Amino acid sequence: FCTEDEQTEDYLFKIVLIGDSAVGKSNLLSRFARDEFYPNSKSTIGVEFQTQKMDINGKEIKAQIWDTAGQERFRAVTSAYYRGAVGALLVYDISRRQTFDSIGRWLNELQTHSDMNVVTILVGNKSDLKDAREVTTAEGKTLAEAQDLFFIETSALDSSNVVVAFQTVVREIYNILS
Ligand code: GDP
Ligand code: MG
Repeated sequence: FCTEDEQTEDYLFKIVLIGDSAVGKSNLLSRFARDEFYPNSKSTIGVEFQTQKMDINGKEIKAQIWDTAGQERFRAVTSAYYRGAVGALLVYDISRRQTFDSIGRWLNELQTHSDMNVVTILVGNKSDLKDAREVTTAEGKTLAEAQDLFFIETSALDSSNVVVAFQTVVREIYNILS
C-alpha cells in the first residue's frame, strides 16, 4: 500500500565547495550542473547554491551544492555556509602548491563548523595544466589517505572526472544514510 510513498521519498543532501580562492570551485560546479566553463571567471559570480538531481541506485537524489561568493579570499566563510552540510569537496589547484598547503586549515574549518561527519573528497583540480604541475598525484593521495578522505584529480576545463567527483560524495552519503 505504501509504494507511492516510497517512490516519492526525497533525498536532499547539502554539499559544500571549499578551498582557496581561484582553485576552480565555481567552475567545477558550473561544469557539473550546466556543462559550462568560464575561462576568466571572477570570484564574485558564485551563486549561493545549485540543486542538481542525480540518480543513485535508481533513487532520485537532490544534491544541493553550495558555492562561495568569494568570501574565502578573506577567510570569512561563515558558519551558515557549513550548517547542515553532509558532504564537501575540498579543492586545491595542482599548479599552485600554496593551495595544497591550505588543505589542513580548510579541514580544521570544516570540522569546527559541522556537527556531523561530513563525507569529504579531496579534489586536485586543473589536471589539464600538466606543464605547470606543482603537486604530484602521489602527494594528493597520501594526504587523502592520512586524513581519511576520498581523492580525485579533476579538470573543470576539459571535464575530466568532474561528474565522478560529485557522484563519489553523493553515493557515499547515500550508502551511509540508507
Ligand atoms: P574559485 O575561486 O575557486 O571559484 O575558482 P574559479 O572557478 O572562479 O576559477 C578560477 C580561475 O581558474 C578561472 O580563471 C577559471 O577559468 C580557472 N579554472 C578553473 N578550473 C580550471 C581547470 O580545471 N583548468 C584550468 N586550466 N583552469 C581552470
Ligand atoms: Mg568561486
